[in-house]
Amino acid sequence: MRVAVYPGSFDPVTNGHIDIIEKSSRLFDRIIIAVVHNVTKKALFTLDERVAFIRESTQHLENIEVDCFSGLLANYLREKKACAIVRGLRSMTDFEYEMHMAMMNKRLIPEVDTIFIMANAEHVFVSSSGVKEAALLGGDVSSLVPPQVKIGLEQKYKQLRG
Ligand code: ADP
Repeated sequence: MRVAVYPGSFDPVTNGHIDIIEKSSRLFDRIIIAVVHNVTKKALFTLDERVAFIRESTQHLENIEVDCFSGLLANYLREKKACAIVRGLRSMTDFEYEMHMAMMNKRLIPEVDTIFIMANAEHVFVSSSGVKEAALLGGDVSSLVPPQVKIGLEQKYKQLRG
């Protein structure tokens, strides 16, 4: 059984992430989408909300598990007996950052490789932060995120505005 872990903040999950999940689910027996609990990074959505969005938007895929983790990715990979880390690439800026992370992870857990999947052309400019900014300013994000996330963004900003 070839298990890969796709770690990320997913705050919130976008159509770009979903595309990477669909592609990787065809390459591996099982994909664990691991939502990172990062205490130093302020997230808009709670861990539970982020996990729920991913679960709702990946119901059409059978070999997906959604989980959360904190701490060292290498330890989590060992615990899950994963053979690969999946990451998405949109640009050279992503590449620079991702290459360093991949090299660091290779040092920490040599038996696991990082597999990069290219973003589809229509998702190259899609990012969680861009989507949040557009939604905050009242922009229509329906072509950028799954429908549940669009609703979630509207509700969250309504709550925050009081
Ligand atoms: P992180 O904080 O770990 O970068 P993100 O949720 O922003 O978490 O991204 C997780 C992974 O998904 C990263 O490898 C990122 O490059 C990739 N990714 C983000 N948006 C897209 C997109 N639109 N298309 C393809 N890959 C993407």
